[in-house]
Amino acid sequence: MRSLVLLFYLFLGLTIAVVQGQFVPSPDPLFTPDPVTEPSTEEPTTPERDPNELPLGEECNEELCKLPDCRCSTTDIPGGLLPRNTPQFVTITFDDAINVRNIETYRSILYGRKNSNGCPSGATFFVSHEYTDYVLVNELYNHGYEIALNSISHRTPPDYWATANYDVIKEEIADQRIQIAHFANISTESVKGVRLPFLQLAGNASFQVMADYGLEYDSSWPTSAYRDPGLWPYTLDYASTQDCTMPPCPTASIPKPWVQPLVSWTDLQGLPCVMADSCHFTPDLEDEEAWYKFIVGNFERHYFSNRAPFGFHIHEWYLSSNPAVQAAFVRFMNLISNLPDAFVVNSSEVLEWVKNPVPVDVYRAKPCRQWSPRICFSRDCGPLAGEHNEMIYWFNVCNVCPRVYPWTGNPLGR
Ligand SMILES: [Zn+2]
Repeated sequence: MRSLVLLFYLFLGLTIAVVQGQFVPSPDPLFTPDPVTEPSTEEPTTPERDPNELPLGEECNEELCKLPDCRCSTTDIPGGLLPRNTPQFVTITFDDAINVRNIETYRSILYGRKNSNGCPSGATFFVSHEYTDYVLVNELYNHGYEIALNSISHRTPPDYWATANYDVIKEEIADQRIQIAHFANISTESVKGVRLPFLQLAGNASFQVMADYGLEYDSSWPTSAYRDPGLWPYTLDYASTQDCTMPPCPTASIPKPWVQPLVSWTDLQGLPCVMADSCHFTPDLEDEEAWYKFIVGNFERHYFSNRAPFGFHIHEWYLSSNPAVQAAFVRFMNLISNLPDAFVVNSSEVLEWVKNPVPVDVYRAKPCRQWSPRICFSRDCGPLAGEHNEMIYWFNVCNVCPRVYPWTGNPLGR
């Protein structure tokens, strides 16, 4: 009976892979319950240093700072391309826990979409741990979306993050990567991005942790000064010229991690807003046509200028509680999928292009991104005691159930 069940899941996994036309042989497509990524065995790639002792970033030298590993903070198009030869990337990002309610929206507005080159559209989920259903994280991953980090605790107030030191960020972010790979049974290496809660930067600390633990990019840093033209992604080898709207911002020279600036939108009164749901002067929430024009107007500021990646950052509740806004979002996605030089992609795909910029016709002809679906043997865990509070939790995982509800300091709930 057990082998029959196993065969069924193997068949199911292969079917998913083939249906998506994305099958890549995986060394071990079957579920492996052993946590290959034990926190204690995860060694930083470089020795830990005191962030206070880091050398300050110097003014960027474009002769020394070259792609693929270094880029000055600038609105210049990578590779010196002309705007008309530059792919216009669009990144859709959602924050916070993934649960049975918001997955319905994601399924209905994202699944099955394609760009004009025939490749699947992307979206990036900055997931926070508490109340997340890891079976659904596995589902999003298997549909090709990018899973990224938004911390284990998502603690309030924002000042907790503003003053967080290296060790706090290591427990909240580096350990979360191990946690999410473990419970959602997804590849650790696929988790590359970081968004700090409330977009509250922590100075050098988060970038230092990212450098040491191999996390590729930050997606927490808004810019309102570099909206028109927009700021392209860059590295911190040299001092950033980006405006610091949520201090403390990094000041040290920290090679390796990238900054993907959150280029603010402009609301109806000309004020900047980072998340689409944080704009102050918006169209009427029941006016789909006005919202469509609002979104397209912001997109055009990028598309008709230096084609800096256009971010659409939003919380799911804003779409599900405002059907007209959601309808406008879908119309916008349809518009993009009909443009030959605009592409809705996962956030990490933007960086792949920035590191190795090619003209849009070359980009269009490239093979689509590939991924290996990972099987989930789902388990409903609970009741589990929270060791950090008095709560009792239930949650779904693609692994063995933990002893207690996982939290910072005990990310696998052992
Ligand atoms: Zn969040």
